[in-house]
Amino acid sequence: RTNKHFRPTKAIIDLDAIKYNVLQLKKHIQPNVQIIAVVKANAYGHGDVEVAKAALEAGASMLAVATPEEALHVRKHLPDPDILVLGYSPTSFAEYAANENITLTVDSPNWVNEAKNSCKKTLKLHIKVDTGMHRIGVATEEELRSLYEAIQSSGQFVVDGIFTHFATADEEDESYFQKQVNRFEQFLKILPKKPRIVHAANTATALIKDARLQYDAVRYGISMYGLAPSEYVKSKLPYPLKPAFSLETELVAVRQIGPGESVGYGASYTVDRPTFIGTIPIGYADGLIRKYSGQDVLIDGKRVPIVGRICMDQCMIALPAAYNIGEKVVLIGKQKNEEITIDEWAAKAGTINYEVPCIITSRVPRIYC
Ligand code: PLP
Repeated sequence: RTNKHFRPTKAIIDLDAIKYNVLQLKKHIQPNVQIIAVVKANAYGHGDVEVAKAALEAGASMLAVATPEEALHVRKHLPDPDILVLGYSPTSFAEYAANENITLTVDSPNWVNEAKNSCKKTLKLHIKVDTGMHRIGVATEEELRSLYEAIQSSGQFVVDGIFTHFATADEEDESYFQKQVNRFEQFLKILPKKPRIVHAANTATALIKDARLQYDAVRYGISMYGLAPSEYVKSKLPYPLKPAFSLETELVAVRQIGPGESVGYGASYTVDRPTFIGTIPIGYADGLIRKYSGQDVLIDGKRVPIVGRICMDQCMIALPAAYNIGEKVVLIGKQKNEEITIDEWAAKAGTINYEVPCIITSRVPRIYC
């Protein structure tokens, strides 16, 4: 694979924005609280290794990913930092994890008893407790006791941490959140000894909830990328965020079509006057799903809409004038005095901002600045 990019479509990742967002969090949280930089899903589509390096430089002390494969990828480039796999790992991964100093999440004594047969080395584990997400995690105090006991009696495995995850931390109504906090506190009381790291806070909890819920570490995801977890959290942000992700391309074709002519598959967009149509080389195979049809993009600092159906590799935009081939088009980010945000794209598709950069596929190169 070559590093040279011929197609002009690219995601520009502003690593200074990532560093700024981490530094701001560091100032906001309690001085002894660690930052776990959540770089799962290729750092929410921003590029895991580069984001991890920037976050560590700015003061994060640990990384979190979702899968064994993601952990191995980050470890290949970063030999030193602690890496926690937040999701499920099969027992077959235990030995690899031990060899690579990767910390695993565990929620069942059976897992421990099976893994200890194949993994004879020291392996750090974080116990996940289910306090209300009902996704993964031990669900009862009895299960927690037997899991803790299984780890302690294994000899080679270590309870390095314990954590839970909140379902509604980004919402105004605190009733379910408080229920989860209370359950977590109950679970913590059972342990004969406090593990090295207790953690529960995602971005929303770290930014707007009681500082005690920061425990020993906070798991900083969405706002490290400069995005708010919800409109509610956005209205309460303790510091302004800097978005790190821009998406841009160039016009590759321009034509004028006459009244009655249509654009794209299904001839779904028809013009009633002479109209300049520009083609940009980005389509649903790049993550620009067809639901984004109608979304504005920027050319020459002006908003223009995506018209017609989005194709697999290209889409068309309605132009106010005959721009030249090679003219820059910004899909996400700033141009002159205009800005189009990830939140705007999310609203267009009826989804959350998390999803927008995550689904920009690997065909779009990430360029770091
Ligand atoms: N912790 C866990 C277990 C998660 O699944 C996630 C993200 O989904 C995070 C932390 C980070 O959440 P956020 O991006 O809202 O900070």
